[in-house]
Amino acid sequence: MRLALLTSGGDSPGMNAAIRAVVRQADALGVGILGVRRGFEGLIEGDWRDLRSRDCANILQRGGTILHTARCREWLDPAVRAKAHGALRAEGVQGLVIIGGDGSFRGAQALWEEHGMPCAGIPGTIDNDLPGTDLTLGFDTALNTAVEAIDRIRDTASSHERLFLVEVMGRHSGMIAVHTALACGAEAVLYPESESDHYEALLANLQASWARGKKASIIVVAEGDRLGSAYVVGERLRKEHNLDLRVVVLGHIQRGGSPSAMDRIWGSRWGAEAVRRLAAGSGAFYLGRLNGDLVAQPMEALLGPPPVPPAFLGELVPILSR
Ligand code: ATP
Repeated sequence: MRLALLTSGGDSPGMNAAIRAVVRQADALGVGILGVRRGFEGLIEGDWRDLRSRDCANILQRGGTILHTARCREWLDPAVRAKAHGALRAEGVQGLVIIGGDGSFRGAQALWEEHGMPCAGIPGTIDNDLPGTDLTLGFDTALNTAVEAIDRIRDTASSHERLFLVEVMGRHSGMIAVHTALACGAEAVLYPESESDHYEALLANLQASWARGKKASIIVVAEGDRLGSAYVVGERLRKEHNLDLRVVVLGHIQRGGSPSAMDRIWGSRWGAEAVRRLAAGSGAFYLGRLNGDLVAQPMEALLGPPPVPPAFLGELVPILSR
């Protein structure tokens, strides 16, 4: 048996752990792995080579993806997919392992629906926003990176008795923002799924904390918050309340770095499981974790609502920063 393997969409820490597990589990089962570079772009261009166990030496602890990744508009064209599928079949490929987010899974699902190519998805995205799993690869590392950065910012915030707005990743999801805010004792968190009129709530929280004599504050802002970016919120606070505040955007440092033990462990488990299931004849599915257990979902589960940060976590943030 021969399987193709690719990483697609945004990179996330732990992708290399999953690649290593796919290749080595396949090796143990006598299955060949064709490593495709640059996601669907590489599939279209035939940019691939065989991967063997020794090709994965010393990558477990490295961030990013040794296969490189890309976003690829051409893949949306069924004719392009048909051509790529023909090229894969010509190489003797009987299934695909894809590490990426929901968009990447949809791209793989199209190969299954149009050409019957079995595919296994490994949830590789720092946002932790895929239906059917309570963990995605890279989330734990990104969270820890954000918390570590904010701990450093807090030192200067408290020395200067200053307000800092820190923007974290999450264009559509507040998962990173809410968990980061809780883990670093922020005064408030602004995130897209929150229901309250959070500008008013934010002001009330800040005023209450100033009244209690607290001068240094951290506000965590998800990049996709309804009020706008941290710069927009900061400007409004500055203008309306004459505050001497600072804005920090953590940006891409949250994507990089050595994966946490949690991301290495789940990348390894999902990688091995993907190969085992494809070798046993499974169709199209993606892997996840629910209540601590490894689970497989049919690709159709992607249509379900994405997970949102529990409201009570967001509400806990200002209570615990008193
Ligand atoms: P991230 O969470 O990092 O954004 P993602 O996998 O969701 O990861 P996308 O940019 O949404 O990232 O998708 C990656 C690629 O998957 C796209 O560039 C495109 O090639 C393919 N893709 C996305 N949606 C579809 C779709 N509906 N049909 C076919 N292919 C798709």
